Amino acid sequence: MLALAACSGTGNSGDGGSGDGGLIGVAMPTKSSERWIQDGNAVKAALEAEGYTVDLQYAEDDIPTQVSQVENMITKGAEALIIASIDGTTLTEVLQTAADADIPVIAYDRLIKGTENVDYYATFDNFLVGQQQAWTVLNGLGLTELDGTPIDGAPEGPFNIELFAGSLDDNNAFFFFNGAMDVLQPYIDNGTLVVKSGQTAIEQAATLRWDGETAQSRMEDLLTANYSDGSKVDAVLSPYDGISRGIISALTDAGYTVGDEWPIISGQDAEVDSVKAILSGEQYATIFKDTRELAKVAAGMALALLNGEEPEVNDTTTYDNDVKVVPSYLLAPVQVVKDNVQEALVDTGYWTAEDLGL
Ligand code: BGC
Repeated sequence: MLALAACSGTGNSGDGGSGDGGLIGVAMPTKSSERWIQDGNAVKAALEAEGYTVDLQYAEDDIPTQVSQVENMITKGAEALIIASIDGTTLTEVLQTAADADIPVIAYDRLIKGTENVDYYATFDNFLVGQQQAWTVLNGLGLTELDGTPIDGAPEGPFNIELFAGSLDDNNAFFFFNGAMDVLQPYIDNGTLVVKSGQTAIEQAATLRWDGETAQSRMEDLLTANYSDGSKVDAVLSPYDGISRGIISALTDAGYTVGDEWPIISGQDAEVDSVKAILSGEQYATIFKDTRELAKVAAGMALALLNGEEPEVNDTTTYDNDVKVVPSYLLAPVQVVKDNVQEALVDTGYWTAEDLGL
């Protein structure tokens, strides 16, 4: 509903290019993760519904490719840009070109850093995403409810946990990890959780480009170095479903079997394969971020600017990009465990029962 409000007033205005087939450039990081395909399609549909033509590009996680895609959009006469960056710090020069041509820029999901030439930011409450991931881990271990409320008579542990973070060139990775550590640190401090590897710094836990294979080999190394003595990992904090799948492969290869001391593993994005893994018990939880809503907000921001209106925001303090605090609209993420897959993902029409093999 809020997302729709961000679009309001943009539908029937005759100026600013609405309905005249003006061009809007949409730059997405990669097709290797399902969510960005959903995002791209949803943004395109929202803008086309308002009569715009959309140049939607994916850069396969290659920074120079993304920069040149954005350059091309500017050259082709894009009236606005919506960008989900690969590396949030690498667009400064091309966005200066956009600013010189008076092209408004919306940062999509990931903050664009180090430039004044980003006008608005559409994203989720990313710190909350991290907290929610940690709460799912604690919930899976029987320590708390999904909202972090301690459970009376919970087991004392100690539980062995290993920590994974996202890509350090993505500002979101810090918000997710900091949110999660905000929840987990007290449990580590009081000995309920033990990070056997000792790798608790984000630099140690990071996964370049959120790559599943990179995560898999780090998990293999962690198991060899810290769990060859017969001890078991009880939980793994994972910031993204693709990383979770890498972790699951490493565990399977190391002889862990589902149902038998299989660890609690978190995730993010509600990707089909990972939702199936939740249903089969390999993954405990994911965080669902409705890309359709995010797309509506971002498209609404671009349309508002093109119509000379001010986009709706709900956060003007959090997202400092090192040059300015970018006015933002934050959507609410949703925890998904086996019990609410149907309600959160199927009843909302995000996936069909068939998609999920239900
Ligand atoms: C997004 C996550 C996604 C990750 C990897 C982050 O910037 O916010 O939803 O899991 O990138 O694609």
